[in-house]
Amino acid sequence: MIQLQDYIRDIKDFPKPGVLFKDITPLLANSEASALCLEGLLSLVEDQKIDKVVGIESRGFFFGTLLAQKLNAGFVPIRKSGKLPYSTIKEPYSLEYGIDVLEMHDDAIKKGDRVLLHDDVLATGGTAKAACKLIEQLGGIVVQCNFIMEIEFLKGAQKLDQYELRPLISY
Ligand code: AMP
Repeated sequence: MIQLQDYIRDIKDFPKPGVLFKDITPLLANSEASALCLEGLLSLVEDQKIDKVVGIESRGFFFGTLLAQKLNAGFVPIRKSGKLPYSTIKEPYSLEYGIDVLEMHDDAIKKGDRVLLHDDVLATGGTAKAACKLIEQLGGIVVQCNFIMEIEFLKGAQKLDQYELRPLISY
């Protein structure tokens, strides 16, 4: 039986000194590991009804779209400033290595939509928190936030204590 951890590569000091970057490209490059990851993420959702899966740029897009397909839900991208073509709502956020603005199309979520938020890594939680605010601004209900992994010592879970958080792996 393969272990997902074996397909997540640690890159020291990327993109800046002091950051241990969790690189999922080996996981994406292996079909067995990718299938196991998708299966694991799906099992976290259990049998909850989901209308939209929201994925965060860019590594939240890989499994976000696959999850949406499997859950018979729509997929919605959240992107960094200036990347989305239609009119957007915006939310500033800070992350482990910088500050930016997240955007979502203003028609992406309908009031009352049940939303699964997905990203690869939960670190300080600033990104996921801003994403939840965008979803809620449009009247969406954040049913669960799931991640391939959580970096526990960065305490992102504390920032998101009002949400159902489900990381597949904890470091
Ligand atoms: P944060 O807002 O601090 O929770 O950061 C989460 C976002 O930044 C996610 O979109 C991740 O893809 C990315 N990220 C933060 N820290 C790391 C890390 N150590 N390795 C890989 N990605 C990271």
